[in-house]
Amino acid sequence: MILLDGKKAFDFFIEKIQYETDLIKKNINESPCLCTILVGNNYSSKLYVNKKNSICSKIGFKTHFIHYNNDISEKLLINTIKKINLNKNIDGILVQMPLPNSINTNNIILSIDPNKDVDGFHPENLGKMALGIESYISATPKGILLLLEYFNITIKNKHCVIIGRSNIVGKPLSMLLSSNNDNFGNATVTLVHSYTQNIETYTRIADVIIIAVGIPYFLKANMIKKNAIIIDVGINKIFCKKTNTYKVIGDVDFNDVKEKSSYISPVPGGVGPMTIIGLLYNTLISFKKKIKYGKTL
Ligand code: NAD
Repeated sequence: MILLDGKKAFDFFIEKIQYETDLIKKNINESPCLCTILVGNNYSSKLYVNKKNSICSKIGFKTHFIHYNNDISEKLLINTIKKINLNKNIDGILVQMPLPNSINTNNIILSIDPNKDVDGFHPENLGKMALGIESYISATPKGILLLLEYFNITIKNKHCVIIGRSNIVGKPLSMLLSSNNDNFGNATVTLVHSYTQNIETYTRIADVIIIAVGIPYFLKANMIKKNAIIIDVGINKIFCKKTNTYKVIGDVDFNDVKEKSSYISPVPGGVGPMTIIGLLYNTLISFKKKIKYGKTL
């Protein structure tokens, strides 16, 4: 079994992004700027935003952080986003999800300028991606494609089962992997979800399984075929009685599955760091379009 080490891949891609950022800075003394918006005080959301901002600073990206209380109105949030859309100094906008129930997430996504939608959630970007037109690919699917690329895994001709059909992971991934593209597509894709009967009948014939359901220990060894490639997107916080602390695990029963698989991504340290790479790539692309710097990475 080979571990799909997301930290190793992260280091490789971050160096590429930093190299290009430094080069541009030397030439024109400008650098990309990511704006992050956090609503409320959810512990994990705060952690994610801080992490993204600190990595940005390390590689020379500028950051702009906006924090609102949970009771902010949808209208005020949309007005803020509209102002940032017009701010020429900001290249990418990230609204940390989930948002409070009082705010309609789709309205927020729709208010972001598609040119600054570095999370790739806007229908214009999702639609373009579906049609194979250049666009921002959602950060997690993009991170997964780069993780596969780093480990020289081609998806072409393989049967890939994706478990979970969210708009940010399962759905866009199913479109990308089944697209007519030899680099990251041309797989046969089966998308299963909470209404699929007997999921194991699909997973047992899969060459590649990508799981994003948010249920700890969901995927077991008896659900996969020997030498399957396993990508675990799930992030679940569980209480560990032994240590009396919380720990983060994925959707795969890692110890059960690892020896039967050919490649497997761990949680933490698998897809998580690569999602940040996806986001930074998109921000750099947006910045380069603005300054008309030529070919993107
Ligand atoms: P979601 O939480 O919006 O939806 C869950 C999906 O799982 C749904 O499509 C549902 O149909 C499916 N599902 C639920 N129960 C199921 C079952 N019993 N059998 C089959 N399918 C079932 O999805 P999401 O936003 O993609 O998040 C999924 C997990 O991935 C969460 O743990 C989330 O934290 C994690 N996540 C991680 C990253 C990362 O960067 N690593 C990014 C996004 C999401």
